[in-house]
Amino acid sequence: MSGPGTPGPGAPAPVIAFHGVGLTYPGPPPLTALHPFDLTLDAGEYLTVTGPSGSGKSTFLNIVGLLQAPTAGRYLLDGIDTGPLGDAGLTALRGGRIGFVFQAFHLLPHRTAEDNVTLALLHAGLPRRERAATAREALHRVGLAHRADALPTRLSGGERQRVAIARALAVRPSLLLCDEPTGNLDSGNARQVMALLDDLSAQGQTLLVVTHDPEVARRGGRALALHDGVATCGEVAR
Ligand code: ADP
Ligand code: MG
Repeated sequence: MSGPGTPGPGAPAPVIAFHGVGLTYPGPPPLTALHPFDLTLDAGEYLTVTGPSGSGKSTFLNIVGLLQAPTAGRYLLDGIDTGPLGDAGLTALRGGRIGFVFQAFHLLPHRTAEDNVTLALLHAGLPRRERAATAREALHRVGLAHRADALPTRLSGGERQRVAIARALAVRPSLLLCDEPTGNLDSGNARQVMALLDDLSAQGQTLLVVTHDPEVARRGGRALALHDGVATCGEVAR
């Protein structure tokens, strides 16, 4: 049966659909890090996630990123029910549909910017020449085509994070998942990275950004606040 919130035939599935998704660590004593909740994130939406330390941000991010299985509810990514998938299925789904960006960049220091991006494509089944072309295109998207041959040590913090974003974008993910992407940056570099995320959002990229930074949190169209594992979702006032 179809009704409000149920996509009809042909309508694209939401990127994220949580149906009563929650997580309780068994303990003892058991600890509910995420109380069950519903969430729908459609393609092209930009969601920010905030909350104090211990509120469940990492748990939420790990579930969305298919790094941790929820203990309650169903999680559909691009309409695919992730619950029944085994490790190989989860790894394939994660590799093809989710791009991760971390606070600490995690670039290989002795490889060029282009190599760092290309390495993300090793499992995508592309021939070497296409990998290089795809990597250069991703660097172009983040405004770093001219720095393709630079080692990370020769790049500013903001440029390093943009290389990391290019690496995440290279697989053309359904979802770009960013954990404190400006956490290691000074304010100038942070502004550049935030502007890039705005651009990607304007180009239609679906974004989920975990942040302590109220400036970043105001950028998204929607905001999820976590407190003691309880999620509250709202629109961002403009
Ligand atoms: P945040 O990222 O917002 O700091 P987390 O998701 O890491 O929060 O943690 C949420 C709650 O779950 C915290 O109370 C934390 O202590 C608890 N927790 C996290 N990981 C585990 C674990 N492996 N076992 C038991 N409790 C955990
Ligand atoms: Mg955390």
